[in-house]
Amino acid sequence: MTYSGRDPILLTPGPLTTSLATKAAMLRDWGSWDASFNAVTARVRARLTAVVNGEGTHVCVPMQGSGTFSVEAAVNTLVPRAGGHLLVLINGAYGKRLARLTEMMGRKLSVFETAEDVPTTAADVARKLDADPSITHVALIHCETSTGILNPLPEIAEAVAQRGRRLIIDAMSSFGAIPIDAKAVPFDALIAASGKCIEGPPGMGFVFARKSVLEQCAGNSSSLSLDLYDQWAYMEKTTQWRYTPPTHVVVALDAALEQYLAAGGQPARLARYTANCETLIAGMKEMGFRPFLDARIQAPIIVTFHAPADPRYAFKAFYDKVRDKGFILYPGKLTQLETFRVGCIGAIGPYEMRHAVNAVRDALADLGIRQIAPATVKAA
Ligand SMILES: *Cc1c(COP(=O)(O)O)cnc(C)c1O
Repeated sequence: MTYSGRDPILLTPGPLTTSLATKAAMLRDWGSWDASFNAVTARVRARLTAVVNGEGTHVCVPMQGSGTFSVEAAVNTLVPRAGGHLLVLINGAYGKRLARLTEMMGRKLSVFETAEDVPTTAADVARKLDADPSITHVALIHCETSTGILNPLPEIAEAVAQRGRRLIIDAMSSFGAIPIDAKAVPFDALIAASGKCIEGPPGMGFVFARKSVLEQCAGNSSSLSLDLYDQWAYMEKTTQWRYTPPTHVVVALDAALEQYLAAGGQPARLARYTANCETLIAGMKEMGFRPFLDARIQAPIIVTFHAPADPRYAFKAFYDKVRDKGFILYPGKLTQLETFRVGCIGAIGPYEMRHAVNAVRDALADLGIRQIAPATVKAA
C-alpha cells in the first residue's frame, strides 16, 4: 500500500488504470434478460463497430472471457476444419500463442517468424503465400505487446487481399488508439478486448467479423462456448448474450466508450498515448535506460527497456520498490535478454508518466543501482 492508501497506477497493458466514472458504472446489478441491459449491449456493439468504420460490412460479436478467448473463437469459427490452412505471422509471444491455439483446435497451421525486433513485411507475406497456394487465411498481431512492436497492417492486408486470402487480425493492444479503417484495410476478423485502449475493465473481448463471411460459418466451430457464429446468431435473434454475460464489464465498457467519444475518439487517444510514450522514453533515457526497439517501429502502447547492467539489479526488488512508490511495472517477455516493460495506456497522462519516471529514479537510488545503461547495447 502506498502512503496515500490509493491504488497504484497500472503501467501494464491490461488490466490498466480506469477512470472513476468507469469504475462507478460497475456499482449496479443488471438482469441479463432485461431490455435495459440488452440496450447497453447493442449500444456498445454499435459504438465499437464505428471505431473501425465497420458499419455495413462488419458485425461486432462480443465474447465472454479475456482477449485470448475471442482470438480462439475467431480462428475456430472462421477457419474451416476441412481445407482451412492458417499462416500465423510471429514476432513475439502473442503470435506464438495464436499459433498454439490454432494447432490445438486441429486446424492446419504454418508459421512465419521474424526476430522480436523485426516487423513482418508485406513482401514476406507475399512470398509465403505465393509459395503455398493451400494457405487460406493469414493471422497478424498488429501491435505485438510482448515488445511493443508495430507490424505494418495496411501493407500486409493488401498483400493478403491481392492473393485472394483472408486476414485475421489480433488488434488487442492497438484497437481504439492506432487508426484502423475496415473500408480501407480488408479483413475478415479483427479482435480486441474491453480492458485495453478503450480503458474498460478486463473480462470481455469482441470480434469484428465480415458479415458476408460469418454468415457462412455455421458448423465450423469445434467448441461449444467459443462458437462465434452461434454467439452472433443468438444475439441477433434475441438481443441477449448466449450464456451469462459479464454484466458489470459491459456497462463499464459502455461508460468507457462514452468518455472515449467525448474526449475525441481515436485521434485523441493516440495523441495522449503518444505523449505518454514520449514522456516515458525521454525520462528513462535521461537516466541511462535504453529502449529495446528502434523508435520507428515502436508503438506508443508499451515500451520494453533493457535492464540495468548493474549487478545489484534484480527485477523483483526493483518492481517492489517502484510499486511502493505507487506504480506497477510489467516484467519483460524476451527469452534472450533481461528486460522490463512499461505500459503507456490507461486513464493516465504525461503528468503520471513523469511521476512514474521519478519513482523509477528513486527506486534505483534506494537499491544502490548506478550502472543503468546495458553493457551490450550502444547508446541510442
Ligand atoms: C492482451 C493481448 C491479448 C489477450 O491476452 P489475454 O491475456 O487473454 O487478455 C492477445 N493479444 C495481444 C496482442 C494482447 O496484447
